[in-house]
Amino acid sequence: MVGAASNPEQVAMNDKPVLDIEGLKARLLAHREELLQEAADTAGERETVELDQARVGRLSRMDAMQAQAMSVELQRRRELELRRIASALERIAEGEYGYCLTCGELIDPKRLEIEPTSSQCIGCASQSERER
Ligand SMILES: [Zn+2]
Repeated sequence: MVGAASNPEQVAMNDKPVLDIEGLKARLLAHREELLQEAADTAGERETVELDQARVGRLSRMDAMQAQAMSVELQRRRELELRRIASALERIAEGEYGYCLTCGELIDPKRLEIEPTSSQCIGCASQSERER
């Protein structure tokens, strides 16, 4: 068990800000809607590039393939974010939201305000960043 004194920052912060879970949940749900809508709107962009060779030159074919590859990459990031949102919503439902998955300490509410899908406190997050 780590004593509070080992973290002078936490000692100074005796009235800690209240975490607005309902507000964050609403943001997560809205963001999820947005991502799903974007994914649906751009689905056509990710279809295999089959262009009329007679009509378009090699360069525009390459452009089209690059645009497709970019759309696939954006979709991959959307799906990653959707998984992060789903797991945050799950933690909210289970009453575990706001706690670091690694050390179990409370995540700074300011951090969650900025990134509501955060599942680690800043200390553990930068630790796993280094280990990557
Ligand atoms: Zn942690």
